[in-house]
Amino acid sequence: MRLSQLFTRTRKDHPADEAAKNAQLLIRAGFVHKEMAGVYSYLPLGLKVLNNISQIIREEMNAIGGQEILMPALQIKERYETTNRWDDKIVDNWFKTKLSNGSELGLGFSHEENLVPIVKNYINSYKDLPFAPYQIQTKFRNELRSKSGLMRGREFLMKDMYSFALTQQQHNGFYDQAQKAYRRIYDRVGIGDRTFMTFASGGSFSKFSHEFQTLSDAGEDTIYLSRAKNIAINKEVLTDEVLVEVGVSQADLEEVKGIETGNIFSLGTKFSGPFDLAVDDEAGNKQTVLMGCYGIGVSRVMGTVAELLSDDRGLVWPASIAPAKVYLARLGNIPSVVSAADELYEELTKLNIEVIYDDRDMRPGEKFADADLLGIPYRVVISEKTVRAGTFELKARTAKEAELLPKEELIKTLVS
Ligand code: ATP
Ligand code: MG
Repeated sequence: MRLSQLFTRTRKDHPADEAAKNAQLLIRAGFVHKEMAGVYSYLPLGLKVLNNISQIIREEMNAIGGQEILMPALQIKERYETTNRWDDKIVDNWFKTKLSNGSELGLGFSHEENLVPIVKNYINSYKDLPFAPYQIQTKFRNELRSKSGLMRGREFLMKDMYSFALTQQQHNGFYDQAQKAYRRIYDRVGIGDRTFMTFASGGSFSKFSHEFQTLSDAGEDTIYLSRAKNIAINKEVLTDEVLVEVGVSQADLEEVKGIETGNIFSLGTKFSGPFDLAVDDEAGNKQTVLMGCYGIGVSRVMGTVAELLSDDRGLVWPASIAPAKVYLARLGNIPSVVSAADELYEELTKLNIEVIYDDRDMRPGEKFADADLLGIPYRVVISEKTVRAGTFELKARTAKEAELLPKEELIKTLVS
């Protein structure tokens, strides 16, 4: 991608109507555009990051047998009456709308009521279980406050997976696999070291749910953490009894703030019951299907990474989700510099290395500031000086010093 062609621009000033650091940085870098509190447009570079995160999640869901689907935002009222979730007193963050004939619809905040009736059409025997559809889809929630940028949207991207199992043992087996897949996702997006699986409230069907809490002072949740034992407990369930059950004492725990970037939940028959989703077991008896749900806030993860891995110069993307791997800054436009830069751009592109090519007519300082603000993992500089010396200047986003390298070594580093 040539920066001279990109329609977005960076900006130096802080957006006045945005309090959250993640959104301030993403707006300044031109990754997102704020429409209103909790509602953002994703621009070319921001969409790349969002898609990269989605793709990692997709790969890990597919690896445990997930089957990707896409359900609608528009939701049928009667389905939610079946589970008693239509009433605004029970679900307080609904966005609702109407057809022209007056019948009411909702905008989906979660999709159990959409999926269970679908599944009911296709299964009738224990042999059909287990399986787990998932989607990466826009959710609508009329959140009371939306001041945390991408971390609390009123319209946001979520991955939601739902598992269907015959027995508790079958359910537990999948639940365990999902936990492991979640760990791999957090590692791959670059926040694994600060994300802890956390005991949280489980609703009426299981004692606990498991939240994935990413430590941050910007987090809204209070959790109690033992790093030594790798155990975390959400404040909402912390009791003496729970401490004994999970095997820690209060003295082992530090109080920290966390961002709930994901959670997994055993649903039991909470949704399969009302819709009478049941199959014949081996003995020919009807068994109500056991469900689980597994959510990750895709856009919340993006906001979290922006918030936590940034520095005073801007964003710092892990290579796995960065909009490009290399920021190629061409300084000046004498023919030898232009041809050296064009050549490297083409070469790297052929090697499938994504490059943001700063071919604009701008001062070096401005280009370096943009490279830092955009948070691209590697910056390569080509100038009259480097061309004359037959080298390329390479600097990792997080490194203090740049180094001068011949082309083969440069490419070797960038390929690895
Ligand atoms: P929270 O307690 O933060 O409101 P939740 O318990 O309502 O989250 P779920 O309904 O389980 O969350 O949704 C699954 C995941 O979706 C959450 O773990 C979180 O990562 C993400 N998520 C939830 N609400 C939002 C939101 N308003 N904006 C962005 N991501 C969200
Ligand atoms: Mg919520």
